Amino acid sequence: MNTKIIKFDVENKSLIEEAGKVIRNGGIVAFPTETVYGLGANALDCCAVKKIFKAKGRPQDNPLIVHISNIEEINDLVKQIPHKAKILMEKFWPGPLTLILEKTDVIPDVTSAGLKTIGIRMPSNDTARALIKAARKPIAAPSANISGRPSPTNLETCVDDLNGKVDCIIGGEKSEVGLESTIVDCTTEPMCVLRPGGITLEMLKKVDDKIYIDPNIMKKPEKDFKPKAPGMKYRHYAPKAPVKIIDGDLQKTIEKINKIVQNYIDNNKKVGIIATDETKDKYSNAIVRSLGSRTNLEEIAQNLFEVLRSFDNEDVDIILSESFKEQGIGIAIMNRLKKSAGFDIMKL
Ligand code: AMP
Ligand code: MG
Repeated sequence: MNTKIIKFDVENKSLIEEAGKVIRNGGIVAFPTETVYGLGANALDCCAVKKIFKAKGRPQDNPLIVHISNIEEINDLVKQIPHKAKILMEKFWPGPLTLILEKTDVIPDVTSAGLKTIGIRMPSNDTARALIKAARKPIAAPSANISGRPSPTNLETCVDDLNGKVDCIIGGEKSEVGLESTIVDCTTEPMCVLRPGGITLEMLKKVDDKIYIDPNIMKKPEKDFKPKAPGMKYRHYAPKAPVKIIDGDLQKTIEKINKIVQNYIDNNKKVGIIATDETKDKYSNAIVRSLGSRTNLEEIAQNLFEVLRSFDNEDVDIILSESFKEQGIGIAIMNRLKKSAGFDIMKL
């Protein structure tokens, strides 16, 4: 397939109109959002949605999130909106929050992977909303990566994964949040966070103090585990080399990582290190990448997937990563990092 790559330019509305038409005609388009880049199709067209699963190599039982450009568009898609879900919409939309609600029959089973519920989100990214408006359809879109890989947060990594597999890729700015949306199941009382993201538990608790994070999120799934968000059971966010997290006091972490590096070097192996601005100069004999400053977890989140992917070009044998406090957006950072490491964590 010949993929058309277009750089979105607010001055040139015809480009987005063209991409909207591709969606309306049953094609698939990758586009920027504030969370990560998405791969979109008309959410109401089952043939178009099937193309997303094929292009990504995504398991059929992993449902998609439906994106809208305007709050009113939700009314045809869901049976009812509980009071607290309404407050969440008013407070956090447009933005990086997905709400799970009971779906109507308008949404085909392929989109929801056979579930009676659907995840809905109104993105804040202007290009994303312009595309949904131009398509005049709700857009089903998972992250725009090959299944299992770290999600793309810029045009280059999106092209790496999807060039030749999709009709069109729209390039925009680097994703602001850098991690996928927070998912809240609004069909239960109390509501439950199925995936942590840029909208943190602390922020959600201001709306509902009983809201909690599904306890299965931060631990290795046990055999026969049936997660509430089907995506939770798959290995995710994985670069080519294995990732190992070193978790402990920062000074001890630096010493431990340097020791492990020496071991690898002695065996003629190449090591990558995920560090921070505060620690990057404390390592040697390895390819060291900083996620940003430890004083700015938003910056760490924004750079995480880009840094994980950057090691693919370096042919490293292992990637050693520092860890972060599971607080605020740190919960989402550690959730992605643990999954990328397949829960290989060395506690000090
Ligand atoms: P992605 O956008 O690629 O990160 O994938 C969407 C995520 O949303 C997956 O982890 C899904 O399992 C989850 N999801 C989508 N719809 C639902 C739903 N109806 N119930 C629970 N989780 C969902
Ligand atoms: Mg994904």
